[in-house]
Parts: sequence; C-alpha cells; structure tokens
Amino acid sequence: MMRSLRPLRPGENAPPPSAPPMPDAHWLDRFRRALSAWYGRHARDLPWRGTRDPYAVLISEMMLQQTQVATVRPYFERFIAALPDFASLANAEEEKVLRLWEGLGYYRRARQLHQAARVIVAQHGGQFPRDPKAAQQLPGIGRYTAGAVLSIAFDLRVPILEANTTRLYCRLLGYRDDPWSAQGQHLLWAFAETVLPPRHAGRFNQALMELGSVVCTRSRPRCGACPVAMLCAAKREGRQVDIPRSRPKPPIQLRREAAVIIRHKGGVLLRRCGPEERWAGLWDFPRVELPAGTNGVPLPARADALEEAIGRQTGVLVQLGRLLVTLRHQVTRFRITLECYEAARISGRLRKGNELRWVRQSDLARYPLSSTGRKLAALV
Ligand code: SF4
Repeated sequence: MMRSLRPLRPGENAPPPSAPPMPDAHWLDRFRRALSAWYGRHARDLPWRGTRDPYAVLISEMMLQQTQVATVRPYFERFIAALPDFASLANAEEEKVLRLWEGLGYYRRARQLHQAARVIVAQHGGQFPRDPKAAQQLPGIGRYTAGAVLSIAFDLRVPILEANTTRLYCRLLGYRDDPWSAQGQHLLWAFAETVLPPRHAGRFNQALMELGSVVCTRSRPRCGACPVAMLCAAKREGRQVDIPRSRPKPPIQLRREAAVIIRHKGGVLLRRCGPEERWAGLWDFPRVELPAGTNGVPLPARADALEEAIGRQTGVLVQLGRLLVTLRHQVTRFRITLECYEAARISGRLRKGNELRWVRQSDLARYPLSSTGRKLAALV
C-alpha cells in the first residue's frame, strides 16, 4: 500500500500529477527487513567499509563518484596511507594530491577535496561538521556526499540519492518520468527520507547503494536475486529495463590536437593546465588544438602553423621533428585524436605568467600528469 507525500515546504516544487504515492508503513517495514538481512549476508568487503572515520568515508565517497569500485580500491588505500587525515591533506601541496589522484579522472574532485580539508581545518577545528547545512557549505560537497558522510560516520538519519539509488528508487516506485527533473528529484529525495529506518541509517544507506550497484544494475537488473523483488513496482509491471528514463547524452565532438615534446639540455618542457582547462592543476606537454580541415594534410605543409602556435603558448621558438605516436582517447564528450611530435628548442625564453617548466626526465614521475601526458612521458 502507498500513502501520499507529506505537504510541500515553502519554495519546494510540486511533484507531477503522475508521481506514484509514497509507500505505507507495512511496505516500509518489509523493505527494511528484507534489505537489512540481504546486506548482512552479501555486503562486499571493501577497504572503506567498517570504518566510521569521516575522513576515510569522505575520501571514498569522492573517489566513487563516476568511478567503479574496482578502480577506486587501490587509489583509496594509497591516498589514505599518504594523507591519513584532514590535517595532512590540508597541509599537502596540491601537486601531491593530484599525483595521488592521477589516473582516476575528474580531477576537480581532488582539488575540491583538498579545499574542503583546508576549510575543515581552518573553520571546524579539523572535524567534519555534523550539521548537514554546514557540511554542504564545504567545497565540492553536495547533499548526497554530506548525507553519506553524516549517516555512515555519525549514524545521523540523513538520506542519500546518487546514481545507484536513483535507479533503484525509480524502479521500486515505478517512476517513469525524468528522475533528473526538479519534480523527479523532489520525489526521490522524499522517498530516500521516508525509506530510512529510525536507527542505523549509515548501514542502511550503504545497503541501498550496494543493492543498486550489484543487483539492480542499469542494463540487466538481477531481479531473480533481488531481496525486495516482491515490493518492486517496475518488476510487477515488467518495466525494469524502461525505468529509469535514460538521460539524453550530449553529442560526441571530434577534435584533433597536437602535443609537442620539446627537448632542451636534457630536460623537456611541461606546462601546468590553467583553472579553466580540461586538466586544471595537472601538468602536460605543450598542446594545441589543430584547426579543422588539417586532417590528412602532410606535416611539412602545416609545421609552420604548429610551431607558431607552440611559440605563442610557451614563448619558445621550436623546430618540429618527427611524429612519435598518434593517441586516441575520449574525455567527456570529446573524442580526441592526439598527434605527438618531438621538437627542439631553437631560441626564446619561457613566457611569463604561464606555468612552464623545464623538467629533467628523471623528475617526470614526481609531476601529476594528464593521462596522455603520462603516456608521452613513458616515450620520453
Ligand atoms: Fe531492481 Fe529488479 Fe529488484 Fe526491482 S526487482 S529493485 S528492478 S533488481
């Protein structure tokens, strides 16, 4: 049985007329018991499970955003070993933080985590704030991350809603509209709050995410192994695969770029990406976008333009050498073909204001590099 939503608070949007009603007490009781028993038997043994240290919980939650558990595991262990608490993270150089994060992608998360640690040390005495509103004031910490840390570390009854639970809640409720719309979010957050038991909210939130992650999966939900199948509206209606409605993806854009390894006196030139760039804070070899229409044009015919573009970016006049390798990779909506050349410095001084540095080859391992930058460093 389902009951209607609580009255709206001032400023909240009304749910759409098609929104399913909230579950009643009997449904909630069965759901909580079934999920809790299943989690007791099937919870994966993960390095961040079993800790209630808010620092470790925060690191794991930030790393797990848009990244698979198997990928995160070694990064989490290395990060915690190198920077074990808010104070050590706050005092670390950004380069060290980014080097530990290198390869995980979405580097904004690492920089925000670093800033959040500094605020926690400066304004909260090194303790993660227990007030949800204060937690959400921290850089990079939204309602979901705050809820996860507060419930898991302090057992506060605070709801969560991320990708796995969004899918799970939509299916349980049979919600067919857009879950990312204001109305969808209103409904799903209300459900997340309703479904939480009065005690052990942290364990319960982890159980919800675990179920969404390993059973109620995106393309092939394992309904036969699902502990709450008897309570699921999508299963009852046979609409598991249609729910939730998929998010329209931005169209893929093709780009061609050139990166240049400029050698000078036993070193190579690195450039630190600016705050608005794709790999903000990381180092990379000088790189420029190749104009449309140059695809297939032989290098000698466009070497001048490329040398000029590198000169504008670095202040150094170079002579382009051979093509070392062509790499293909995708970053967000960009599918990039990257031509990598070597070059020799002819003259000129490094441009002021840009973060440019001649780096000895043996020191490249110390610098946080973009993913393609690391591949090129191996060639160097
Ligand atoms: Fe997901 Fe299937 Fe379980 Fe419903 S029954 S919650 S669709 S796994």
